[in-house]
Parts: sequence; structure tokens; C-alpha cells
Amino acid sequence: MREYNNEKLKKVICNRCGRELTVENGILKEGCFKGKQLFDYFSDKDGEIHEFDLCEPCYDEWIGSFQIPVSLQEETELL
Ligand SMILES: [Zn+2]
Repeated sequence: MREYNNEKLKKVICNRCGRELTVENGILKEGCFKGKQLFDYFSDKDGEIHEFDLCEPCYDEWIGSFQIPVSLQEETELL
């Protein structure tokens, strides 16, 4: 979950373990998975938007439980 102060990022908390991630001057300073999904008409959550953040260890544990590994590509131009 994320908290903003006048649109400036103030706090990021991992939804799974509850740990507060490092945010400095409105910039997230560690790895984080930001999930956002609109469940549409054909789902059981018709019209709900779900949003959450996972710290990197929780993300790694989550994808480690997948039967099929995540697709992986390299981004060469990081900001
Ligand atoms: Zn976590």
C-alpha cells in the first residue's frame, strides 16, 4: 500500500509482510512489485480494482510458488 502527501510518495508498505520500504524524498529506494488489477464483468469481482505492493523478498517467494516461471526480459535503459 502507498501513502501520498500532496501527490509526493510518502510511504510504501508491503501488503504481505507489513514491512515499510525505504522511501527518500518521494522516491522508492528498493525493489517493489506494484500490482493493480481491474476485475471485469466476467470475474466474480465485477468492477473491483485491486491494488497492492510487495517487497522484493515477498515477490520472490510468491513467484517461487508458480508452476511456470515468470517471463524474463532485460531492460537496458533504466532511469
Ligand atoms: Zn514483504
